[in-house]
Amino acid sequence: MSRRWKRPRIVSRRSRAVPVLVTLLLCLAACQDVQPPHMVSTPTMPAGPTSGDMGQSLAFTTSGASCSQGHTVQYRFAWGDGTFSGWGASTSASKSYASAGTYQVQAQARCVTTPSVVGEWSISRAVVIGDATPPPSGCCSFYVASVNSEVFHRASCSYVAQISSANKVCYCTRGEAIGDGKRPCTRCNP
Ligand SMILES: [Zn+2]
Ligand SMILES: [Zn+2]
Repeated sequence: MSRRWKRPRIVSRRSRAVPVLVTLLLCLAACQDVQPPHMVSTPTMPAGPTSGDMGQSLAFTTSGASCSQGHTVQYRFAWGDGTFSGWGASTSASKSYASAGTYQVQAQARCVTTPSVVGEWSISRAVVIGDATPPPSGCCSFYVASVNSEVFHRASCSYVAQISSANKVCYCTRGEAIGDGKRPCTRCNP
C-alpha cells in the first residue's frame, strides 16, 4: 500500500510548534536579563589646582560618569585626608586643608535612583599644600615696607622685591605708613 497518510504530518507540525513556543517564552524571559547590568561609570580625574596654601579654598571639578540604565548620577570627592564632600548633582566642590602635606583628591559617582549603585573612584590628583606664611594684612598692592626698616615704598618699587614675604608690612595709604613710624623711600617717592 503506497497511499499517503497525512496524519503524521499534522502531528509533526504540532510537535514543531511546541519547541517554538517554548523558545519564544525562554527568549521573553532572557530578553529581560539582556538589559545592561546596573552600574555607574568612573568619573574623570578631578581638575583643579596642584598646589595651595593651608586654609585656602581650592575648587575641583569632575565629570563624565553615567548610569548604565540612564539614570541621573551624583558626584562626591574624597579629599585624601579622610574626609569627603557630600553627594550632590554638582560636578564641583571646594576644600581647604588645615595642615600642610600632599593629598590625593578623587571623585566618585553613584546612581540617584538606586544610591547603592556606586562607581569606582577616579584617578587621583595630587595636591601639595604648603606651609604658607600668613599673607601680610593690608593693601600690598599700594604701599609696602619691611618690618626691619623704617622706609616704606610704592608696591612697584624695586626695593620691594628684596623684602621677603614674611617681613612684608602693607599699608593702604601714605598716612597709615607714616602713622606706623615709616618714612617715604627716596627712590620711589611714595
Ligand atoms: Zn541607575
Ligand atoms: Zn622705594
